[in-house]
Amino acid sequence: MPVLLTPPVLHMPTHEAEAVVLRQYSLSDSDLIIIMITREYGKIRATAPGAKKPKSRLGACLEPLTRIRLEYSSREGRDLVQIRQAELVHSYLGNNRSLEKMCVFSYFAEIVNEIVQDNQANYTLYRLLLAALDSGEQMTRFLPLVRYFEIWCLRLSGLFPNYAYCSNCGKCVKDEGFFAWLEAGQSRCWECAQGRGLRIGKEAAGALEAIAKLSPGQFGSKPLGKEAAQELERLSQRLLEMHLEKRFKSYRIMTEALQEM
Ligand SMILES: [Zn+2]
Repeated sequence: MPVLLTPPVLHMPTHEAEAVVLRQYSLSDSDLIIIMITREYGKIRATAPGAKKPKSRLGACLEPLTRIRLEYSSREGRDLVQIRQAELVHSYLGNNRSLEKMCVFSYFAEIVNEIVQDNQANYTLYRLLLAALDSGEQMTRFLPLVRYFEIWCLRLSGLFPNYAYCSNCGKCVKDEGFFAWLEAGQSRCWECAQGRGLRIGKEAAGALEAIAKLSPGQFGSKPLGKEAAQELERLSQRLLEMHLEKRFKSYRIMTEALQEM
């Protein structure tokens, strides 16, 4: 009896996910590499075969800052998965794009790309990104939203210290402001700090409280004084830099774009 040789079946399980595209790179003349945050599996890197071809329907869904539903296959031990299908849910840089919005949203994508873990679901970070993009779509002034987003990203990554009490005398400082001692992750009241540390005045301290309680749309539409905005900016930039050990390229570009508004 002849022996039937059947070729080994490659085991390539398929998955379904919802995602926001963070970046894309060119892999070859016709293929792209896509980096995205998925609702279900955290950050994944995927190849998108044929997506660079001019008439590719796949390519149209995979621009940065689009929300998609996708099906992909993965092979054990391999870092890159392969996109089989994608369907556009929403393009955040679609019809109504302005330079400011593009810069702000690209900055959001760069922060998320840095802090989200590979293949590890982070549903709250995914929700935060969607909520910030959704409310940013309706806005014309972005600074409060940007501060909100940075601080929540730090919080969700466990990188934002509890600044409620003076670490020296125990006094509650969250209402009247404090000096942040960044390296120690502590706050000091006016008396104990004696001018050392990063000043967070009364309005900025109040804004930190509001950020913890409000949605991005609510906080983003509140007025935020120039001094408080600068104090929060210094705080979040120093914390991001200290923990991620990098400066964001998109941050500098965004800052220039927003200054011209
Ligand atoms: Zn004190």
